Amino acid sequence: MEKLKFDEMQLSSWILRAVTDMGFEEATPIQSQAIPLIKNGHDIIGQSQTGTGKTASFGIPCLEMIDPDDRRLQAVILCPTRELAIQVSEEFRKLLKYKDNIRVLPVYGGQPIDRQILALKKGAQVIIGTPGRIMDHMRRRTLKMETVKYAVLDEADEMLDMGFRDDIELILSKTPEERQTVMFSATMNQEVLELTEKYLKNPEYIKISRKELTVPQIEQIYFDVKEKDKLEALCRLIDVYDPKLSIVFCNTKKRVDEVVEQLLGRGYFADGLHGDLKQAQRDRVMQKFRSGAIEILVATDVAARGIDVDDVDIVFNFDIPQDEEYYVHRIGRTGRAGRSGKAFSFCVGKEIYKLRDIMQYAKTKITQQKLPTVTDIERTKKDIFLEKIKANIAEGNLEKFAEYVESICDEEIAPIDVAAALLRMQLGSTISDYSKSEDDLNAHNPHNASEKYAKDMVRLFINAGKKNKIRAKDIVGAFAGETKVPGEVIGEIDLYDDFVYVDVPYEYAKDIIDGMKNKKIKGKRIIVEKAKKPKAPVKKKRR
Ligand code: ADP
Ligand code: MG
Repeated sequence: MEKLKFDEMQLSSWILRAVTDMGFEEATPIQSQAIPLIKNGHDIIGQSQTGTGKTASFGIPCLEMIDPDDRRLQAVILCPTRELAIQVSEEFRKLLKYKDNIRVLPVYGGQPIDRQILALKKGAQVIIGTPGRIMDHMRRRTLKMETVKYAVLDEADEMLDMGFRDDIELILSKTPEERQTVMFSATMNQEVLELTEKYLKNPEYIKISRKELTVPQIEQIYFDVKEKDKLEALCRLIDVYDPKLSIVFCNTKKRVDEVVEQLLGRGYFADGLHGDLKQAQRDRVMQKFRSGAIEILVATDVAARGIDVDDVDIVFNFDIPQDEEYYVHRIGRTGRAGRSGKAFSFCVGKEIYKLRDIMQYAKTKITQQKLPTVTDIERTKKDIFLEKIKANIAEGNLEKFAEYVESICDEEIAPIDVAAALLRMQLGSTISDYSKSEDDLNAHNPHNASEKYAKDMVRLFINAGKKNKIRAKDIVGAFAGETKVPGEVIGEIDLYDDFVYVDVPYEYAKDIIDGMKNKKIKGKRIIVEKAKKPKAPVKKKRR
C-alpha cells in the first residue's frame, strides 16, 4: 500500500488545517494504513520504527471520534515515560490548533498531584499519561474509566520492559469491554502478543515493511577499529566534527556507564541513559541533553527508544547493534525533520559481516572512512585558532597588549618568541591528552588493499573542507584547471568539515602543490601540502 494524502482520508477540516500547519505534506506509511482502519472502528497493532509518525496515526482518529459535547473522559493514551507523554500531548495540542472544545490532559508522575486533580475536575476528554500515575488517580477516584471509548498503548514493548504490565492490565480492565483498543510497538515479542490477545478484538496487524525504514539523507560511515581504540576514535571524531548534540549507542548498560565515565574523565559533557535509571533520573538526563548542558548522550537501545530530539548531529554506534532493526532505530535519531545527519559505526574485525547484514536488511550503504589522525585534529585546531588571532587583530585596540609584549622583549626575547610561547600555552595545553600516541588508529588502511595504488600515490592535505562548501568535484576541477593533472588520475578524496585529503599520483604531486599556491577553491584561499606524519595529539572541549 502506498502513502495517502491527508485529504484522501475524509478528515474534518479543522484537522486538515492543523496537519497542513504542522508541515505534513502526506501521510507516512503507518499513518496511511492505520488512520483509515482506526477511523472505521478496528482495533489495530501497528509496528514501525521510531520517527515514522505513530503519534498522529492514533492521534488523528482519536481526536476525530471525541464527542466535544460530552465532557467525560473518552480516550486514554498510555505511554512508557513522562518524556513521551509530554511529546504525545504536544502533538495532540498541535492537532487541536483549530478546535477548542476538546480538552487533552497529560498525566504523569513528578507533577504535583493536587494540580492534576484540579485539572481533572475541570474535565478532560483525553488523558495521556504513564500507567503508574494513571493508576494513582484511579485509586483516588479522580479518574474514572467507565466512559472510555478508545484506549491506546503507545510503545507497548517498552512499557512491558519497564514493568508496567500489571498496571496496564488493571487500567484496561476498568474500561468498558466495547472500547476500541489500539497498540503501537517498535518490536514484537511474546509478551506483547499476549497483551494483544487479551485486550484487542480481531486486531488488524500493520507492519511497515523494511524497505520503507531507511533514512536516505543520513550519511552512514563506518570505521574499522580495534576494540581498545574505540574511545579514542570517538573522541577524535567528536573533536573534528564538533557536533552540538550526539548520541553514542552501546549494547549494554555496563558499557554505557564505562563510556560515560571515560568521556567525563577526558573532559567531555556526557551522561548516560539506560534501563536501570529511575524515571526521575532519566528525565533529568534528557532535560540536560535538550538544553545542551550535556552534549553527548550515551545510551542503550531500549532506554533511547522513542526519544524525540530534533537536533542530534551525529549518532555513534559505539557497538554494532545485535539486532539489525536496532541499527535503523538508532540512526533514525539523527537527520530528523529534514536536517542532515551522520551515523558513524565502529566496526571491529569480523563485525564487518554484521554490518553487511545490516546494509542488506536496511537496503542502505555504509561506506568506510579513515579516522581522522591526530595531525588532522591538530591542524584543524591550529587553523581555527590562527583565524581567531587574525580576527582579533582586525578588531584593533591592541595598544595596551602590545605594551605588555614590548615590556618583556629584549635582546634575548623577540616578539616572535612571545607569540610562539603564547601559542604553545594555548594549543600545547590542549595537546597531549589522546591516550594513544600513534597516529593511525585505523585497523586496516583501506588503501592497503591495493599495494601498488598506495605506493604510487601521495596524500595531499588541503586546509579547507566541507564547511567551505568544497565538494570533491571542486577539487578535481581546481587541480585540473590550475595544473596539468588530468582529473581521472586523482585518487580518493576524503572530505572533512575543515580539511580534505586527496590522493594524487606521485609524479603530479609537486606540480599540484606549486600550481595551487595562492589559488582559491570556492572563494577560499587554500594551501595544498603533503600530508604529514603526526607530532603530538590534540584535544578539545575541556571543562
Ligand atoms: P514515532 O512515534 O513513530 O516515533 P512520531 O509520531 O514521534 O514518531 O513522529 C516523529 C516526527 O515526525 C514528529 O516530529 C512528527 O511531528 C513528524 N511527523 C509525523 N507525521 C508526519 C508526516 N506525515 N509528515 C511529516 N512529518 C511527520
Ligand atoms: Mg512514538
